[in-house]
Amino acid sequence: MRRTMDGFIIAVDGPVGAGKSTAARLLAKRLGYRYIDSGAMYRALAWKALQAGLDLDDEQCLRRLVDETCIALESVGDRERILVDGEDVSGHIRKREVEQASSRISTHPDVRCVMVAHQRRMAVHGGIVMDGRDIGTVVFPDADVKFYLTARLEVRANRRHLELQAVDNTRGVEELVEEITARDARDMGRHASPLRKADEAVTIDTSDLRASEVIDAMEEEIRRKAAS
Ligand code: C5P
Repeated sequence: MRRTMDGFIIAVDGPVGAGKSTAARLLAKRLGYRYIDSGAMYRALAWKALQAGLDLDDEQCLRRLVDETCIALESVGDRERILVDGEDVSGHIRKREVEQASSRISTHPDVRCVMVAHQRRMAVHGGIVMDGRDIGTVVFPDADVKFYLTARLEVRANRRHLELQAVDNTRGVEELVEEITARDARDMGRHASPLRKADEAVTIDTSDLRASEVIDAMEEEIRRKAAS
């Protein structure tokens, strides 16, 4: 069934630091849509796995964990909160150990399967912008509009450096270049739903663009699709 622009599903994928979450959040606001940060869901599960001292390579154990965990995303004004079994973990999930654990647990197909089902349920009424690594390829292969955001490595590392200053400023730009390269390699090289550009996705290199220019380009593409 063809959706009207009010109910579009917009998929935004790309590597670390490409500007996905900033663009997706602002785009959702501009369109009056809901923004869903799928990475926060993997981070939230990783946080719980670390709290429980689980082996991050034990897929069966993580499958049980994801089955028994309630992950919810809420918007509070301009910010999102992520709740794990009712507990607000937004302040924990951006930490380095959680970030690295999220990239490890997300390699397990069983974990992904439950996450993808949850993400699809959140979008049943459309009107969403979701960002992540497999949104246009696996979660919503029929998304109305798909974007693949990217940027030069040094730009991405500098952005992460600025973002992380609010969380932990212990990582220098050079260290971040290494971390980003390793995380991207794991996300792109994994067997289950690797990060890749969906065939129909529109690529935007955000290296030299302001956030407002990125979302202007995205909105133009969405309106073009809606009119076609
Ligand atoms: O986007 P963010 O950096 O918060 O995601 C954290 C990690 O979660 C990524 O490095 C990736 O391994 C995983 N992820 C994923 N699929 C998604 C979103 C995130 O595998 N749709």
